[in-house]
Parts: sequence; C-alpha cells; structure tokens
Amino acid sequence: MSAPRANPPMAMLAELTHRCPLSCPYCSNPLELERKDRELTTDEWKDVFTQAAEMGVLHVHFSGGEPASRRDLEEMVAHARDAGLYTNLITSGIGLTRRRLEALDSCGLDHVQLSLQGVDAQMADLVGGYKGGFDRKMQVAGWIGEIGFPLTLNAVMHKKNFDRLEETIAIALDMGARRLEVATVQFHGWAAKNRAALMPTREQAKQARLTVNAARARLAGVLVIDYVPADHHSDYPKPCMGGWASTGINIAPDGSVLPCHAAHTIEGLNFDKAHERPLKDIWYNSHAFNAFRGFDWMQEPCRSCELKTKDFGGCRCQAMAIAGDAAATDPVCIKSPLHAELVRRAEADAEDDADLIYRLMPD
Ligand code: SF4
Ligand code: SF4
Repeated sequence: MSAPRANPPMAMLAELTHRCPLSCPYCSNPLELERKDRELTTDEWKDVFTQAAEMGVLHVHFSGGEPASRRDLEEMVAHARDAGLYTNLITSGIGLTRRRLEALDSCGLDHVQLSLQGVDAQMADLVGGYKGGFDRKMQVAGWIGEIGFPLTLNAVMHKKNFDRLEETIAIALDMGARRLEVATVQFHGWAAKNRAALMPTREQAKQARLTVNAARARLAGVLVIDYVPADHHSDYPKPCMGGWASTGINIAPDGSVLPCHAAHTIEGLNFDKAHERPLKDIWYNSHAFNAFRGFDWMQEPCRSCELKTKDFGGCRCQAMAIAGDAAATDPVCIKSPLHAELVRRAEADAEDDADLIYRLMPD
C-alpha cells in the first residue's frame, strides 16, 4: 500500500532542552527527561532549522523545558531567522534577563509566548515549585513589553486555578498581551501523573467556556483568546494536531523527530533522529509518520463516521494511554466503548484532593 499524501509541515516545535528552573506538575514533557549531555549540539540544531526551512516549514517555536537554559539560544534564533523562519520563544521567563531579551531582539526574534503558573505569587510559586517565580515573571513581562515583542500569554488551567480565570484574563490585559491561550490541562507526560490533583470538575469546565465566550465578546479587537477545552468532560474529541503528521513536526532535545510531543508513548513506533536521517525523508517516508495519516488505519466506529474528516478520530496518544491501542477511537468520543469509563474516572479524579507531584530532572 502506498503512503498517504502529505503536505509539508507548517510549524516546528523545537524542544531545545528538558532543563527548566520550574517543575510544573502539568508539564507535558516525558517522565524520562533528557540530560544535558544528550541534547543536540548547536550545529545540529542549526542544520535542523536549515532543513526545516528548505522543506517548507514557516514557523519555529523554541521550546523545552526552558529554552533560555541553552546559552546558544540567541545563535539558534539568528540562524533560524536567516533561514527565513518566523521565530517564537516559548518561555517561563525565569532565567531571562533584560540583556538577553535585548540580544534576542537583535537576533530577530519575532514573538514571545510567556507561560503563567498562577495569578498571584502564592499560586504561581506553588504550581511552578519555584519560590519568587511570580515576581520574576512579572519583571520579565515588563521587559518584553518595553522591548516591544508581540506577546502571547499561555495559562494552563486546572482544578486548582479554574475559578480564577477572570483574573488570568485581567493579567493578560495588564501585560499588554495580544493573545491569551486558556489551555485546559492535557493529561500527557507529568500531567498524567497528576490527574487526581489537576482534573477540573465538569462544572468548572462548563463555567470556563461561558467565561471565555463572554470575554471574547467583551474584548474583541483587544485580546484574542484561544481556548483548549477540558476534553475529559466533552462528548467528542478535539482534532488533535489537526490530524497525525499533517501540519506540525516536533524535535525532542535528543533529536527524535515526532508528530507530536507525546508520540513517543505509542508502542511499536520507532522515531528517527534529526541528525541521522534527512528531515524531509522522515516526514514523507518514515513508518512512524505514515502510521496514522489518511483514514485507512481507522477502526470502527471512526471508519464509517462522518466526523472523521473533522476530528481524525481524536488523539492517538490518548487512545494508546486509555484503550491500549493507538488506532482505537479516542475514548473521549461518546461512540467509544470506553467513554463511560473515561467519564467515571474523570469525575472521580475531579473530586479527589491529591497532592501535586512535581516534575523532576534525573540526578
Ligand atoms: S511546563 Fe513548567 S516545568 Fe514544564 S517546561 Fe514549562 S515551565 Fe518548565
Ligand atoms: S467515532 Fe471517531 S470520527 Fe466519529 S466522532 Fe468519534 S472519534 Fe470522531
């Protein structure tokens, strides 16, 4: 059988490092974090960006961990920019100085996406596991505004902070953000270990949607609000990644090339390394990237469902985690035989009051 047709990826998520001063319990990084000595070198990353631009990628998102933990961040941004890529820095802000931000500006950095762990020091420092993190972040946000970077604020929402969504929106406005991502926690990586501490209630999820819709109407033309809903309280899955290996390509710190940041959890797939096989060949021809492209891989009920061209059967990693089969219907879908069990577990987790388990780097 020939491989399904694929268009070039539009965006690359470059996870430069897993090192990070914070230890957020909802971190989507894998439980087995890569050490510094396993990270791609500066030249290997630069080659990745050159190849990305040549194959049609438009944006590169410098991410991690905390990308500012790499001392060569400025050099990589400059290289990516020279290659013709739009550059976005996804950062907690911790570890950035005004001087470094000015250097990044000189290198051509186009955009900053700042994460928010909480609306005050008590919540932010608790969630980030870093005392003084909130005050530091507010200082960095001020520098971002003064230098003039376009800013997106990213707030991961969960059981412990959903009731403070209005304050989150107010902080985005105070910071001068142009865009706010209200992202309900997705249970991959460290977040999956923290289901019982973070799962929102159905009522919180319902209220969040109302709050977002009202704010969108009130702030039209001032702040764009993106909303990632609580899919464990939904009847249909989201179109995860816009379909497997369709628009985005991720590079892990060790050079593993993935269709999404959680894809390494899928058993039976081998992911090539960016410094061992040309990126273009991996994207178009590797077994892992073609495994769930198109519709031929689908099982029932997805195979004969009219919504399959809209949601692509949901998330393959969630199907793997809950159904034990990455080709199964995402159990978030009401047509999945596992949906009732998913809802029962989500409601039990939402009622729980478990302690946070913090993300930890290996010794
Ligand atoms: S989610 Fe938190 S711990 Fe994970 S990379 Fe982002 S700031 Fe660091
Ligand atoms: S059956 Fe599959 S394609 Fe249909 S709505 Fe559910 S997940 Fe989507």
